Amino acid sequence: MSLPFVVLKFGGSSLATVDRIRNVAGRVKNDYLDRGLKVAVVVSAMGKTTDGLIDLAQRTSNVLNGRELDQLLVTGEQQSAALLAMAIEELGFRAKSFNGAQAGISATGYHMEGRIADVNPERVLSWLEGEGEVAVVTGFQGINEAGDFVTLGRGGSDLSAVALAVALKSSFCHIYTDVDGVYTADPKIVSTARKLTNVSYEECIEMAALGAKVLQARSVEFASLYDMLIYVSSSILEGEGTWVKEKTIKEGLAIKAVVHDKNIAKIAVLGVPDVPGIAAGLFSKLADRGVGVEMIIQSVMRGDVNDIAFLVKETLLGEAIEVCGDYAREIDAQGVTYDAEVGRVSIVGVGLSLHPEIPAEMFSVLSGEGINIDMISSTSNSITCVISSSMIDRAVSALHRHFLEGEK
Ligand code: ASP
Ligand code: MG
Repeated sequence: MSLPFVVLKFGGSSLATVDRIRNVAGRVKNDYLDRGLKVAVVVSAMGKTTDGLIDLAQRTSNVLNGRELDQLLVTGEQQSAALLAMAIEELGFRAKSFNGAQAGISATGYHMEGRIADVNPERVLSWLEGEGEVAVVTGFQGINEAGDFVTLGRGGSDLSAVALAVALKSSFCHIYTDVDGVYTADPKIVSTARKLTNVSYEECIEMAALGAKVLQARSVEFASLYDMLIYVSSSILEGEGTWVKEKTIKEGLAIKAVVHDKNIAKIAVLGVPDVPGIAAGLFSKLADRGVGVEMIIQSVMRGDVNDIAFLVKETLLGEAIEVCGDYAREIDAQGVTYDAEVGRVSIVGVGLSLHPEIPAEMFSVLSGEGINIDMISSTSNSITCVISSSMIDRAVSALHRHFLEGEK
């Protein structure tokens, strides 16, 4: 019986230049090949290649055809995969690159937002079970029923790596990034932020969804579904990283992290008639234009009219304003307001909703810093406040001091 293969993943910034690609090859050799292990390495496109390709398409045509965009985007990962295979060969190991089709990754759904349907990595397997030592596999892409490439959403290489790890029965999925693990807050803002040794799937999904940049939320969801352990560590630095796995059993509350996101904008449709179908109409129109929304809050104002406010990614604000403006006219609402100068700050910890003192503490910390709260929402594992983006750094530091440095 052959040994299982370890699945590794390197992100775009770790592969941004030829030197970095060579560094990655060295890393794969030192960490795995020199120890006699065979690996499948999933790669993102070099640096900001995907953004560059999207820009190229936008400058070429005003009609963005999802299929063509996807056929273009997948070339980014094909470049980095082939180059990494060459760099590994140069170190004296047998490496071969595989694109999404060659690696047997099937996807369904809309272009640019594909979902993995199945992974049948027969060619990868027979290469690794035979003479091959390294299979380099393109992240972010799969092939649909029509035989066309479909991409898996921005940051989708993490998902490809986890799915391939499940298919190849890897005992864990090693994700190398430009940070060396999952932290209690962004170390660029909070110098005392600590690296977490372990974080549960639940916490990590919440952190990713609320703006932490380390892992893509969908990939962690997929990992938790299949019990695939994820290990996050630096592609440059040595030293221990963070394990993402099922939760450790422990009673009591542990606030794990303070997470923030500056790339959001708030938009509100004011004075909408309080009748059935209004929200359905608004959010169908937003969905049709591909505008994802979060933190929807409807407030009852004056008897027969409501305000509906929500957050969108800052890059989608223009679209959202257009859709909301048209809709406000159509339903005779009072108007639309928006604010791009907002951000959100969240505290994350499993079981946080069972502790009634926590919201009060969070809001007191913010008010103690003179910070006004614009919107509030909570789930069983997090509380989020929308505040002015100029106050985010201050809020993150104060919340970290209070909840994670025991300054109570
Ligand atoms: N290259 C793709 C992106 O920039 C996929 C990834 O990096 O994971 O979104
Ligand atoms: Mg990326």
